[in-house]
Amino acid sequence: MPISSVLSQPALVLNKSWCAITTTTVRHALELLFKDAAQAVRPETYEPLGFASWSAQPVSPQDPCVATVTLRIRAPEVILLTRYNGFPQLRVAFSRKNLDRRDRHTCQYCGHRPGSPELSIDHVVPRSRGGRATWDNCVLACLACNRRKGDRLPEEAGMRLLRPPVRPGWTPVGDVPVDHQRPAWRQFLRGARPRDIAS
Ligand SMILES: [Zn+2]
Repeated sequence: MPISSVLSQPALVLNKSWCAITTTTVRHALELLFKDAAQAVRPETYEPLGFASWSAQPVSPQDPCVATVTLRIRAPEVILLTRYNGFPQLRVAFSRKNLDRRDRHTCQYCGHRPGSPELSIDHVVPRSRGGRATWDNCVLACLACNRRKGDRLPEEAGMRLLRPPVRPGWTPVGDVPVDHQRPAWRQFLRGARPRDIAS
């Protein structure tokens, strides 16, 4: 793999308490490592290693690596921040595009995925009854379900939501396509609050 594409691969970022908070590029991960702002987590043992130890690790042929004239460094998959211990607040703006993502282009009543033009925004509590255009009151609904529900509450229409609508708490972890996520991430994403990762 060319070095430039290795450098732009994603690396999972853990805060000081080993909670997955975001991702960054391998390039930035190596910079943080070099500056002692992070340690690389060895996927086989979960041992956190500083730059010197990490760059002294043997690199197996199947591992993505960054090679310089004098060094071959395995590309870090997971890094542990040495100082930061918070959770960055990432507020997602309420928009049709983000609603499409949260509801996965799926009607939240019948589960059909008819394509964007055939999906409408349903106000769970209808606007005529004071329902607002907010994350917790709007869902995607296919035209048939939207018509059927009309100006009623779901329970009045005998309809059920697939899941309650909530403001998405996406971190960029959720922005990384699953096939780009590294196997070593799994351990950390499993423990994350589900709404913080791809949903
Ligand atoms: Zn539907």
